[in-house]
Amino acid sequence: MTAVARFLLKWMLVPVLLLWGYHLAQRRYSGTVGAKREATLLVTVLLIAAWVVIYAFIRLAVRDIFLVALAAAVIAVAVWQRRRFFPYRLRCAQCFRPLGLERILFHGNNLCETCDPGDHAKETTP
Ligand SMILES: [Zn+2]
Repeated sequence: MTAVARFLLKWMLVPVLLLWGYHLAQRRYSGTVGAKREATLLVTVLLIAAWVVIYAFIRLAVRDIFLVALAAAVIAVAVWQRRRFFPYRLRCAQCFRPLGLERILFHGNNLCETCDPGDHAKETTP
């Protein structure tokens, strides 16, 4: 049975496309985004790698139970490299106030407007 693998093969492209859109949006914030841009690429590459393995599983008629091993491998890589994959914080790194969505997604230093007021000029540079 490869029903789960086929389902994943179809629907995993949705998060890949969303990540690609996010990556394109990050280009507008090249002055501030820092390591978060690399993180988006890394997560996308990991998802595409998993997608290729799932495709191979289907072609080779590998049973769905082996997807558990693949999921474990993906989670292991993500945990092992968690600082590079997930540099996101919901609160300011300095004063712990909640960050806005724009700062969470597009500001690599994870500082709020008060702690990091000077970088708005840099956002407009391509
Ligand atoms: Zn702050």
